Amino acid sequence: MNNRLISVKNLVKYFPIRKGVFRTIAGWVKAVDDISFDIYEGETLGLVGESGCGKSTAALTMFRLEEPTSGEIIYQGENIARISKKKMRDYRKDLQMIFQDPYSSLNPRMKIKNIIAEGLVVHNLLDNKKRMKKVGEVLERVGISANSMDRFPHEFSGGQRQRIGIARALALDPKIIICDEAVSALDVSIRSQIINLFKELQKEFNLTYLFIAHDLSVIKFVSDRVAVMYLGKMVEIAPTKKFFQKTMHPYAQALVSAVPVPNPDYKRHRILLPGDVPSPVDPPKGCHFHPRCPKVMEICSKAEPEFIEIEEGHFVACHLY
Ligand code: SF4
Repeated sequence: MNNRLISVKNLVKYFPIRKGVFRTIAGWVKAVDDISFDIYEGETLGLVGESGCGKSTAALTMFRLEEPTSGEIIYQGENIARISKKKMRDYRKDLQMIFQDPYSSLNPRMKIKNIIAEGLVVHNLLDNKKRMKKVGEVLERVGISANSMDRFPHEFSGGQRQRIGIARALALDPKIIICDEAVSALDVSIRSQIINLFKELQKEFNLTYLFIAHDLSVIKFVSDRVAVMYLGKMVEIAPTKKFFQKTMHPYAQALVSAVPVPNPDYKRHRILLPGDVPSPVDPPKGCHFHPRCPKVMEICSKAEPEFIEIEEGHFVACHLY
């Protein structure tokens, strides 16, 4: 295993629910509820879970795009959860994000050269001539002609716009990129091109990815390790091969059972979960998954399971183990 690049310890992000004229706090949305994990240099950690499980909030909070309620985020030996916003700007260059919808994340009134150079301007890097040279280089690297840099986002297709989003992140020579549902909105053929581009860039620039998706088949293809979240909690983390061979958490087992297998003779036993994901305002006591769990036991509604290492690198939060 490579060096730890970032360590998240007991990270919590609650959003207040305000009511009445005086906007008093009436409750909390427990979006991220005490999660701990590491990301290693040069790996792709795939983060999966149903929408609303807290995976995007966890990513935004890790980069201080949302302020953490509590917990630690250790990066380069420093707890970046507690440093000043001004100091955080120095780190932000290393930590880039690529979003699901490349159209809404690119300012339609800006030429793509200015969109890509924006981060360099904010961080006061390079003079204008060198910035434009860099813009041309990163555009070419993601498969778009440098001659297109004077065009606007609407002049590109969805796949090309996602390439522009990637070029914008690359311009800052980041160490870690969060890809938040970065291929979910793309057609299947374009999706595989973009995934291959991510893989090529990772090798070339030794990039580390936190790859967030609700589609476990995408996660299976891109990730070195898989992390599963349910209702604000981390429930399982394992190396990808181990995860699919020996999925341990009943929620993760249900997700895996829904992944299509390219073998017509294979009989799939899909695990259908009853009910919907409960509200993060008032999550169930004990194990958050217990009202839907096919293997629920008496203890599950009383005590919250600890997130423990069952085998080397395989962590799970479940009373079965
Ligand atoms: Fe199911 Fe209990 Fe494990 Fe939760 S702790 S996943 S309810 S068996």
